[in-house]
Amino acid sequence: MRLSKKIIDYVMRETAGERAIDLITYLRNKKNVSEFKIADDLKKDIKEVRTTLYLLVNFNLVSSIRKKDKTKGWYIYYWTVNTDQIKYLVKSIKEKKLEKLKERIDRETNSLFFVCGNNCLRLNFDSATEFEFKCPECGLLMNQEDNAGIIENLEKEKLLIETTI
Ligand SMILES: [Zn+2]
Repeated sequence: MRLSKKIIDYVMRETAGERAIDLITYLRNKKNVSEFKIADDLKKDIKEVRTTLYLLVNFNLVSSIRKKDKTKGWYIYYWTVNTDQIKYLVKSIKEKKLEKLKERIDRETNSLFFVCGNNCLRLNFDSATEFEFKCPECGLLMNQEDNAGIIENLEKEKLLIETTI
């Protein structure tokens, strides 16, 4: 799998967040870059860079080695992107999303839904029966909803994941 910008952005949004995109994009084709150099090159505060790095560590998306700085006497961390982990995550995130979407589409296709005219609630058949088809919020009679549009949108979403990510 080639790691396109689109895939990387997608994985970051689903894991460490939008703010990690710049850092990963910068770091992805490099190896063992010191956190100070990262901060310099990205023109960001070292604290901000560290926060983002630790977010990425939580998902095993980056790893580091540390070396003692001879003159200053403290440790400096050098960072590398775990490319295989991005590949693994994109696959597992996609699979989970597709599974959820399929379940949702199943539910929408195989059940009836009821809504009240004031749009307070949306109930499935069993719950609507419990309330005798009267909205528990406003008391209005609930009507069966045409959910074809919802299903269509879910199908589109599914196709988008299947074909583009
Ligand atoms: Zn209502």
